[in-house]
Amino acid sequence: MNTADKSAVSIVDKYFSLLPERQCGECMVCCEYMPISAKGLIKPAQTLCPHVIVNRGCSIYETRPKVCRTWHCLWRRDASMPNEMRPDKSRMIFSLIVHEDERSLFEQAHITCIAMASKSDYAIPMVSETIQRYIDEGALPVWLSYGGGKQLVYPDPELADAIDRPVSTRFTEKVAEGKQWRARYENLQENLLRKNGLLECQFVKR
Ligand code: SF4
Ligand code: SF4
Repeated sequence: MNTADKSAVSIVDKYFSLLPERQCGECMVCCEYMPISAKGLIKPAQTLCPHVIVNRGCSIYETRPKVCRTWHCLWRRDASMPNEMRPDKSRMIFSLIVHEDERSLFEQAHITCIAMASKSDYAIPMVSETIQRYIDEGALPVWLSYGGGKQLVYPDPELADAIDRPVSTRFTEKVAEGKQWRARYENLQENLLRKNGLLECQFVKR
């Protein structure tokens, strides 16, 4: 196994292992905040799913739609995230997103940080520190998403351009770094896709 493979496996292990001490409890954010348009379940954003059993979980857990199976709440996976960051308390959702259909380069697999209440919440220290940790990890693109808008905060614009357009970019000094980054990212995507949807307990199992 080469270094890129090893690093991909350790990141996949980290993001696909639920922390036993991180239970959803009273949080039902992901079953309420997100819009769902799936076979057998259509619901608008910010509407509690009719299948939620309050404080207990999902009444159709075994047959819940794929969109629910492939939701990867990072609060339940990342021990370095403070307990107070639970989405119903912080009004901030951190999630790993892995698309199985083709998306733009930096959206295919990424970390998203959704500010449910206000864009200004990105300045709260525990939030900004968590975002910075994902940026420093350097494995996946990091997006901020708020009130209908979104912004790529990692890779930075120069590196992103060098990764996306290595032949025509103005940032030629970043091309070598960009090629390495893209090779690691594509390897990681493959590893993430192999696990996507297979993990027990995606949205809620309380
Ligand atoms: S998986 Fe959903 S319900 Fe559980 S903590 Fe995360 S956002 Fe809340
Ligand atoms: S996990 Fe269950 S309760 Fe939650 S949104 Fe999906 S179907 Fe609804």
